[in-house]
Amino acid sequence: MKTVYVDNAATTAMSDRAIEAMTPYLKGVYGNPSSLHSVGQTAKEALDSARARIAKCINCEPREIYFTSGGSEADNQAIRSAAANGARKGKKHIITTVFEHHAVLHPLKKLEKEGFEVTYLDVHSNGLITAEEVAAAIRPDTALVTVMFANNEIGTIQPIAEIGKICRERGVIFHTDAVQAVGHVPVDCAALKVDMLSLSAHKFHGAKGVGALYVRRGVPLQTFVEGGAQERGKRAGTENLAGIASMAAALEEACEKMQAVSAKERELRDRLIDGLLKIPHSRLNGDRESRLPSNVNMCFEGIEGESLLLLLDAKGICASSGSACTSGSLDPSHVLLALGLPHEVAHGSLRLSLSSENTREDVEIILREVPKVVEYLRGISPVWEKLEKGEAPHLI
Ligand SMILES: *Cc1c(COP(=O)(O)O)cnc(C)c1O
Repeated sequence: MKTVYVDNAATTAMSDRAIEAMTPYLKGVYGNPSSLHSVGQTAKEALDSARARIAKCINCEPREIYFTSGGSEADNQAIRSAAANGARKGKKHIITTVFEHHAVLHPLKKLEKEGFEVTYLDVHSNGLITAEEVAAAIRPDTALVTVMFANNEIGTIQPIAEIGKICRERGVIFHTDAVQAVGHVPVDCAALKVDMLSLSAHKFHGAKGVGALYVRRGVPLQTFVEGGAQERGKRAGTENLAGIASMAAALEEACEKMQAVSAKERELRDRLIDGLLKIPHSRLNGDRESRLPSNVNMCFEGIEGESLLLLLDAKGICASSGSACTSGSLDPSHVLLALGLPHEVAHGSLRLSLSSENTREDVEIILREVPKVVEYLRGISPVWEKLEKGEAPHLI
């Protein structure tokens, strides 16, 4: 049976170029970049080169890149650092949205317990906020605005440049979790006027366990990890050179191929959306225009997302109901609830996230199997029976 992998928002397969780029640092170039001898210095050169190439892809300076263990660490560090710097000036207010990734929401919850006040901006039913809403929430004691670039569940792309402009004018630090965006849509740190930006290699065909935080020069940064001079003294620990090399290669490749890949993904995405919307009582979640080329997120009334996933998996289709972090729990996604969907509807969600490796054949398989599985599940659902008998109103 053919495997149709459409869970690329959870993680991607490594590209050949990324694997080839990391192999030398696993086999031959094993030096510690902090060592003064030639083996170490060769490793140091590779580290510098990777940093410069990553910086070029997102239009920043190499020294503005801090390597981390991934997107979660970058988010945590950005928020912790901005909060600590704000608190020193008596600024203990933070602005975010209700539908951020948990790597943003959980540190913020913790900061609330430590005396910070967090404003959670509601998203509109299309999964977007406006820059004006951010502007209206800024106060004299606002230490940080953190708004994700592209949502990991519904793929909506926020007006980051406009928010950046407002934050810069008002002198407020602006962080964006761009983990779903980097390598997929153009990301230009200078043009966006962001102060901090998180990215993660495994979301664009690099290795897992490696990412970066961009921090604009002049923005104060707290030390993440004590114990050494690596990353300009901000994050101690011998660098994950193989992972970092894979990230640089993967990002260069993603940026080179971005136009062609997004055009292909967009075509497959639109076929999927149009095909799946033919299922009665279905809906697309998130704005159709301001959306990642790779993201499809649907709700089907009267079914349970987890059952749908298991049955699709049995047919070789690897999809998701939303965030990988909440799968396994029975609570509906906080992102879908944020759109104003009732619990019953939010439960019946399906996220299909594409990559350059997906084909028209994959789309045909999905469009053949999903309607069958939805019909089967509705056939055995007491909830659906009630809806069909008119004992409860259809919500979509
Ligand atoms: C995957 C993801 C993260 C976490 O990145 P890791 O590298 O897996 O820690 C954070 N934010 C968003 C939006 C993501 O999609």
